[in-house]
Amino acid sequence: MEIDEVKLRKDIFRLVNYLSRHEKASSMQEMDELRTLCQLYKELTGIDYVFDFFLNKKRVDHLYHQYDVVNANVFRDFCEMYFADLVRCALKLEKSTDKNNEYYMQVAANKLGKKMRYYNEKEFKEIILSYYAEYGDDIYNLVKEYFDNSRIGMGVWTEVSEAYFANSFLGGGYVANGHEDLSTYSLGGVVHELGHAIDYKKLYLNQGKKLSTISDTLLETPAHFFELSLYEYLIKNHIDIDYALLLINDSIFTDVSRLTPYKGIDVFDGIMNLDGEIVDEEGNLIYNLRDDIVYFLGTSIALNMMVRSKDNKKEFNSILNDYLCGRKERTFEQSLETLGISYEDFINGKYIKPYIKQRNKELIKRIND
Ligand SMILES: [Zn+2]
Repeated sequence: MEIDEVKLRKDIFRLVNYLSRHEKASSMQEMDELRTLCQLYKELTGIDYVFDFFLNKKRVDHLYHQYDVVNANVFRDFCEMYFADLVRCALKLEKSTDKNNEYYMQVAANKLGKKMRYYNEKEFKEIILSYYAEYGDDIYNLVKEYFDNSRIGMGVWTEVSEAYFANSFLGGGYVANGHEDLSTYSLGGVVHELGHAIDYKKLYLNQGKKLSTISDTLLETPAHFFELSLYEYLIKNHIDIDYALLLINDSIFTDVSRLTPYKGIDVFDGIMNLDGEIVDEEGNLIYNLRDDIVYFLGTSIALNMMVRSKDNKKEFNSILNDYLCGRKERTFEQSLETLGISYEDFINGKYIKPYIKQRNKELIKRIND
């Protein structure tokens, strides 16, 4: 699977043309999108387009400091409940607070002692399409367009291993995945990024809104929902039960532990002060708090959504649509209510606790088998 470089280059120049003719109308969002498309092009071809006159790094950085919802004390309670009761016990790893994801995956996979499944291109595409078909024609057709128009590239490393490059003017984007292998692992990655593509179309484009993805605290929730639901789909259809269970566990571990105090740093003090970044004595960035919040919420809300959707998939499709399209007008609590989850039930983990316990039990059983 490859991204069509010629198409991408044309897209970049169409956008540059548009921005240069509509300089006043062009938003920071569009400029940031141009920057990321150029970055993708550079990864693919080695050719570095720099459109300095559009890019004002200072203003882009400024957007990173916008958060709209965080009640630090409530989240502190939530994290402590979540981490202490559920995640730490999952694989009984001694270094359970180690942030190194690859180390964790390696240890877990060794314990599991089973091979991950690999797919040919036809199988890979069919699994993704039949999975997304469960969410109706709209979503299915959107995903199919990404395949038909060569907008998904495997083996393309950008700043991160997996990314979605969106563009409002072009009405879509590209999915880049750093892994060349078509495995259960990269399946989850591609489905996640296609989740961003769906969200982008439903919230950002169809609504005709000029929003900043950077300041959207709930940005990661739909993509995580589609990713976690894919793992359930792989379990239900006996496609790769072992690694689906492992990846569910890994998602929870990685993203929930982001907001758990580690290395002596209390992240919550940062949230209280609305500091975007935590730096060490020499001023080096230790981590970007905005990412930690966005990914933490991504997994914890998506887990709730996924558990809720299991009972009645049909009904949940319209609920999901409502959540995707309207979340920018709602407060954090209202967004949860749209999903049929009260704030209280979110905090005390009413829906997700039993689910996580059950899935962890199954994983541990498979490890011991
Ligand atoms: Zn994402």
